[in-house]
Amino acid sequence: MKKKALMVFSTLLVCVPLVGISHLEAGREKRVKIDPEKIRVHVKYLASDALEGRGTGQKGGEIAAEYIAAQFKSFGLQPASDAGTYLQSVPMVSMKTLPETTFTLVPANGQSVTLKNLDDFVASNESQTESADIDAPIVFVGYGITAPEYKWDDYKGYDLKGKVALLFVNEPLSEDPNFFKGKALTYYGRWSYKYEETARRGAAATLIIHRTDLASYGWEVVRNSWGGEKSYLERGSAPKLQAASWIQLEVAKKLVGLAGLDVDGLFQQAQSRDFKPIELGVRLKAHVVSQMHSFVAHNVMAMRTGSEPNKNNEAVLYTAHYDHLGIDKSRAGHNIYNGAVDNATGCGILLELARAWAKTKKAPPRSILFAAVTAEEQGLLGSEHLGKRIVYLPVDPILDLNYDALEPLGIPEEVEVSGAERTTFYPAVEATAKEFGLAIRSDPRPEAGHYYRSDHFSLARVGIPSFSISEGMKFQGHDEAWGEEQANDYVKNRYHQPADMYRDDWNFKGLAEMAAFGYELGLKAATQAEPIKWVPGDEFEKARGIAWEGGINEETLFAGRPDLHVTHLAAPTYPPLARQTRISGTVVAKVSVRNDGKVDQVEILNGHPLLRQAVVDSLRQWTFSSQSGETRGFELRCEFILDFSPSPRKEVAVEPFHLLIFASPPTVNTVTSKSE
Ligand SMILES: [Zn+2]
Repeated sequence: MKKKALMVFSTLLVCVPLVGISHLEAGREKRVKIDPEKIRVHVKYLASDALEGRGTGQKGGEIAAEYIAAQFKSFGLQPASDAGTYLQSVPMVSMKTLPETTFTLVPANGQSVTLKNLDDFVASNESQTESADIDAPIVFVGYGITAPEYKWDDYKGYDLKGKVALLFVNEPLSEDPNFFKGKALTYYGRWSYKYEETARRGAAATLIIHRTDLASYGWEVVRNSWGGEKSYLERGSAPKLQAASWIQLEVAKKLVGLAGLDVDGLFQQAQSRDFKPIELGVRLKAHVVSQMHSFVAHNVMAMRTGSEPNKNNEAVLYTAHYDHLGIDKSRAGHNIYNGAVDNATGCGILLELARAWAKTKKAPPRSILFAAVTAEEQGLLGSEHLGKRIVYLPVDPILDLNYDALEPLGIPEEVEVSGAERTTFYPAVEATAKEFGLAIRSDPRPEAGHYYRSDHFSLARVGIPSFSISEGMKFQGHDEAWGEEQANDYVKNRYHQPADMYRDDWNFKGLAEMAAFGYELGLKAATQAEPIKWVPGDEFEKARGIAWEGGINEETLFAGRPDLHVTHLAAPTYPPLARQTRISGTVVAKVSVRNDGKVDQVEILNGHPLLRQAVVDSLRQWTFSSQSGETRGFELRCEFILDFSPSPRKEVAVEPFHLLIFASPPTVNTVTSKSE
């Protein structure tokens, strides 16, 4: 600690002479050289017809990944994926729900109601099997939200296991900024949260009631985006729904009518903290048939190692997605989704930032990490995979700066950094904006939940302070109305259409400015002594413990098992002898829990002899809340990993029914040979 304090002091001394000069001037002189024409070259190539719209899992997407990797290499950056190469594999599955899929509502008495696929409902099998059969009672769960920070719990201990959840999208109505952020949408309101939370609770299927006002889009949008092929990350150990579904409002009326209730009444009840789940006495009988296809896509990752050995295990991360929508062969005329703005521009900035950081004479104390991610258009999947693999990376990201779809219109006089205000880094962002003469534009429509729709969100949800950098509406030589006009024109005529093509008359100086701004933020973050955190009380503050940093999050560990409520828990420690002899590997244990909550038996199913005892010793100390009835049991995988990164880092990470225990290998020379 003392050493750190000294270092800060000396850094301050070095900075003093600069403060004397007009700091805007000094700022400009110091500023990194970003070449707008180099950004243009990348954008022009990535958006060319030769890359066929960079579809995920398609040839053009892979060519884009190889191009970006080759650029990183040519700049002299090190490979940084968890495999030690530039390419991080992202195993994926595409699923298409076939027309023979059926949904029938079966009341306790009376006539069954058969629903029509696509007209009445859409469904996707997230559990990734070709066929699934569901016959289970439907339970109305309000908004399906558990949010301790707002003292909100729609479940009240109700066991959803094996049942079908019926719920509303969005979140309780509120004007109070301290309650679900007032009018702004929090993640609890997004449909993806609903599917995740109900799956965690063991539901077989979830039906979201579609109300245009609550979803902010019509049934056509639901039908189009769910009716075709959908890609998923290959499923891991996390529980998944056999039918993730939306139903039309009219269908919901019919359904709750079978139970003698009405939808508006249920909506009113759902606004109350006292709400409890309502069993409707109606079953869903469903047969979900899907066409499946597995493939591997890639994130592209590179890094520059920081200059300070006790800090360079931490990194500032820059991200931009390189995928777009590929080719639509059924379309006449120009059928390539070139994705010039979305997101060849972000990649151009990312690559030029990578070049600038590679050229910087002295690396900052912390490392700089770059990730061009895939499958954003499929639902932020490449970055989600990156987030899930974060503990395996050679360095720990402390901040993510993301770039997504910046139209090269000219010199911006504003910058958008929505979400930055959720972090303790915000004062530095404000100061940097000032240095650049940029006004910070706040999110004009927080109720639309844009923060949850770009790749930085995937990092935020594993606890890394993250936000995107973008231009605002005000450009040099134009008024704000002009900027808004351009944005509207883009959304109407080019966004997610083949017309999103490269133009020679584009001015890339503004994008260079956005890159320089991001460079400066990265430099501050990679240098400053204070850690970057979420503002206390932010919805992502807790998430940090879920993926890494020692603490075990029991909600994650026992996902989908509300009967396993832990009262005492301690992770196994890496056995010293195993560490000395460089033994790593996985131990699988079968655990049974008595009614009084004590662990009854620990049976080791497999694992290295030197690792087994640590697992048994640890698990024997765990206790759970007592519960009458049958003996509870679960299987736990404990993965012991030797961490070869330059300096030892986090100790334990958690996934559902999976603990990852890290240790540094014994100090032989490998550490030095590996780090350079
Ligand atoms: Zn897009």
